[in-house]
Amino acid sequence: MIRMSAVDKFFGSLHVLRSIDLEVPKGQVVVVLGPSGSGKSTLCRAINRLEPINGGTIEIDGVPLPAEGRALAELRADVGMVFQQFNLFAHKTILENVTLGPIKVRGQNRDEAQRDAMKLLERVGIADQAAKYPAQLSGGQQQRAAIARALAMKPKVMLFDEPTSALDPEMVNEVLDVMTGLADEGMTMVVVTHEMGFARRAAHRVLFMADGEVVEDGQPEKFFAEPKSERAKDFLGKIL
Ligand code: ATP
Ligand code: MG
Repeated sequence: MIRMSAVDKFFGSLHVLRSIDLEVPKGQVVVVLGPSGSGKSTLCRAINRLEPINGGTIEIDGVPLPAEGRALAELRADVGMVFQQFNLFAHKTILENVTLGPIKVRGQNRDEAQRDAMKLLERVGIADQAAKYPAQLSGGQQQRAAIARALAMKPKVMLFDEPTSALDPEMVNEVLDVMTGLADEGMTMVVVTHEMGFARRAAHRVLFMADGEVVEDGQPEKFFAEPKSERAKDFLGKIL
């Protein structure tokens, strides 16, 4: 599903991704952990080319990520992304936020897009908020709207970059529950999160990054019980 080979990324002289090799098969849920600045967000952003890379290749479903243009837009539509800041369009209703992509990018007709959007909003538990504007929703509701918006494009892969970090504690679980549901349904997911409960419950695999490298890569139970590297031990000691 996702295949990264020898991916390098520099910001100026800073080597942020160091020859990353990573394969994520269809249906796998990968949680990415690591200290601040280790390259987790850059990894996610590289996967849908929000961030151009300086070396190596990335394939989605066997198709190399094109550099630009229409081919990139099409491939990107297969990769949903949810950010820490919900990034909803402030001047559009929740329903409009969810239908915009399917209408503009997928060429769906409006009625059909709205029907599908209402089903998705139902699924994430905010169908009653469809006519409101983002600012009228709680953080947890906005993030669920952002997930519905990403799902409306029928993505093959979902990337989540600290989707609950900006939320008040009481809203974290309503978002994690939606994500756990997606994982249970077999969505291929890459999730950067500090929510260890989610990692234990939903992840098939944990990657631990440090200084632009994947330092550990294995099953969650193993990683949490006996992390191999000093960096990971140190990290877990601080957050658990
Ligand atoms: P955090 O846990 O704080 O979100 P992260 O693991 O997501 O950290 P990245 O955001 O991927 O880390 O950043 C990796 C490194 O690249 C950091 O040293 C960061 O300062 C640097 N970096 C990220 N984005 C840029 C940018 N646009 N320009 C220059 N340097 C950047
Ligand atoms: Mg980050």
